[in-house]
Amino acid sequence: MELACTDEEEEFRARLREWLAAELPGLPPKPDPLDWPARRAYDCGWQRRLYDAGYGHVHWDASPTQRLIFLEETERAGAPYVGANFVGLLHAGPTIAAEGTPEQRDRWLEPVLRGDEVWCQGFSEPEAGSDLAALRTRAVRDGDAYVVTGQKIWTSHAEAADWCELLVRTDPDAPKHRGITWLAMPMDAPGITVRPLRTLAGSTEFAEMFLDEVRVPVGNRVGEENDGWRVTMVTLSFERGTAFVGEVVACRRVLGELARTARKNGTWDDPVLRRRLGRLGAEFQALWRLTQWNVSEAQASGGVPGTGGSVFKLRYSHARQELYDTAAAVLGPEALDLAREWNQDRLSSLSYTIAAGTSQIQQNIVAERILGLPKGR
Ligand SMILES: Cc1cc2nc3c(=O)[nH]c(=O)nc-3n(C[C@H](O)[C@H](O)[C@H](O)COP(=O)(O)OP(=O)(O)OC[C@H]3O[C@@H](n4cnc5c(N)ncnc54)[C@H](O)[C@@H]3O)c2cc1C
Repeated sequence: MELACTDEEEEFRARLREWLAAELPGLPPKPDPLDWPARRAYDCGWQRRLYDAGYGHVHWDASPTQRLIFLEETERAGAPYVGANFVGLLHAGPTIAAEGTPEQRDRWLEPVLRGDEVWCQGFSEPEAGSDLAALRTRAVRDGDAYVVTGQKIWTSHAEAADWCELLVRTDPDAPKHRGITWLAMPMDAPGITVRPLRTLAGSTEFAEMFLDEVRVPVGNRVGEENDGWRVTMVTLSFERGTAFVGEVVACRRVLGELARTARKNGTWDDPVLRRRLGRLGAEFQALWRLTQWNVSEAQASGGVPGTGGSVFKLRYSHARQELYDTAAAVLGPEALDLAREWNQDRLSSLSYTIAAGTSQIQQNIVAERILGLPKGR
């Protein structure tokens, strides 16, 4: 399925393709996926090159079609994806662009686009993951600062981050959705302890964060005090609606490679496997169509994606897992080689039905907010 492009958009594609062809051979080799500081340097270096060439803004300011062309072309050329810049570029930055004051936009957006500053997300807490509004991390106003105390968990990129989009409880007496505030916390503030957690794939990509009387300036609050749930819905709609879009393109490439490998190694003769590959082909085509729709819909409604993102997130995370299960069936014992980047992707695919809200939660959202069904519990 190809995008219908205007002459101007085709020109954008041709220029980008030419730029990638010139730029990629000079790119340093990919770092060890388990070496997190090196990964940060590599990902930020790539973002800087994009910025210098005029493509740094593409996830925010470009037209939906240009954004999709960018994703198609960078993937086709084998260019790096956002990596450590995931939160900053794809949901903290867009939230600040939509909800921040002009001063906040001036302070935070450009460094993200230049690859100078990395963000992480401090939303989840023990016993407040799916039920996010149950969070207990407290922030008490003291003059021109909030004093924050509590614990966060599963904070991706915490070790590498300069800033954290942080949810805190500012009114413990209000109903749980009404007492929350969204803050930008500098990760070098005294009182923050980051304790890395090791994943199945061996990476310390995420961490626990302990916050002990951390002072965050009141000027770092995005939105009003106690209005953080509304701002959070904006962040989550970017996270579920448009942040994973680029990965669909990568999955389509992996599927193509798998089909070619299956033809070569004889597994293609297995009709069950062939059917699985065919069904996945149809699924990723449908997801690409849904992606186009989500990105255009977000653009049409002032830049913020709607609840349709939950449909995408639900289908995409399951399709991704099935893709890597099928890959294991095609590759056989080779699929167990942990040193291969491919295998890191296979192991991390298990987490996609949990991260950014579990499948059960997405199903609840689809049932209640899209289909208008009554609340389950
Ligand atoms: C790879 C990865 C990266 C992550 N990165 C971050 C990050 O950077 N920052 C961050 O803040 N968080 C992050 N998370 C945390 C993630 O958002 C939570 O794990 C997720 O929201 C689920 O919360 P939980 O783990 O507390 O599970 P729980 O809420 O304890 O859920 C356990 C099970 O119960 C089900 N369940 C719970 N409530 C309901 C309900 N009402 N209806 C139906 N079923 C229900 C869930 O679907 C799930 O199957 C990450 C998670 C992963 C896996």
